[in-house]
Amino acid sequence: MNTKQVVGFACSYTPLALINAAGFSHYRVLPDADCPDQAGSLLHDNLCPHIKGILDRAMSDRVPDLAGMVFLNSCDAMRRLHDAWMKARPGTRSVLIDLPPTTNDASVGFFRDELDRLAGTLVDWGGTAPDGKSLTRGIGLNNAIAESLSALRDRQRAGTLRNGSAALQEAYNRASTGPMEETITFLESLLAETAANNGRGVPLYLFGNVMPDPEAFTLIEECGARIVCEDMCTGSRVFTRITMDREDALYCMARDTIRDRPCARTMDERRPGRIADDLVMMARECGARGIIGYTVKFCDPYIARMPHVRELLKKEGIPFLHLEGDCTMRSMGQHRTRIEAFIEMLG
Ligand code: SF4
Repeated sequence: MNTKQVVGFACSYTPLALINAAGFSHYRVLPDADCPDQAGSLLHDNLCPHIKGILDRAMSDRVPDLAGMVFLNSCDAMRRLHDAWMKARPGTRSVLIDLPPTTNDASVGFFRDELDRLAGTLVDWGGTAPDGKSLTRGIGLNNAIAESLSALRDRQRAGTLRNGSAALQEAYNRASTGPMEETITFLESLLAETAANNGRGVPLYLFGNVMPDPEAFTLIEECGARIVCEDMCTGSRVFTRITMDREDALYCMARDTIRDRPCARTMDERRPGRIADDLVMMARECGARGIIGYTVKFCDPYIARMPHVRELLKKEGIPFLHLEGDCTMRSMGQHRTRIEAFIEMLG
């Protein structure tokens, strides 16, 4: 049972190791399709459904007791969410941490200082001041989870994970919403299970941002695919491995968080086309025969990157299907016919 106070978060760039080093456990507030749709009274309706889904939860009071809520200024919609959150839950604590749009050394230094500011905020919320020992422990727990999830991905790729990619998504959701120590025990028990080989289906690569419902993965696999590799905000991007190669733990955290595998809102200025290049490389590496991109409607960062992604995949001869949705099964169900046709074409 979790006896720690809980800090909420909304974006996969959030430094979970730091939250844990301050003595809290983390809880990702994900969109919940069962919440009444009311965010439109505070934010424009043509806004990313990820943001509106989180706000619906806040307005319906469907969030656990939180010591505070951490927002990263990852995009304009997320910034608006921070403003609306304060209106929806007056009197509760929240902080907006700036996230640089680039990954150069100056950006890493800037983000490191923002993490320092977050550490101070966590202390104001009743946490303990992170020191060398607690940061090392927080990073150790974070890395243990990152490694176990990576081992689960290997099992999924090999077709030896019971319930396939749906089970993997459940593991991501659990790791995003529960205390790190409990997550580690849970992941160890999953890894200890042996499963008959279920490695059937057309190998597929899935990338995009927010799709936390395990049923969405079941749906794709029911259409005849096997997701052999994935790069999602609610999936493999949640836990980044942090390399402690300097004494300044906050610096290491800042560097690895923004440089590891940036999503569409971050620009690697040394390689502006990195997202598309990485997609091609990873799809080839994992033997995928095609790629599905699932992105949230009205997500400006992905809308801006998609033409280049599409162009490069076409040039490389990699079949690509782009789906847009509202992060829930409602929209995935509507896409079933297109997914079936795409997988049939690959088969
Ligand atoms: S899905 Fe896109 S628009 Fe929505 S919060 Fe994420 S980056 Fe921002």
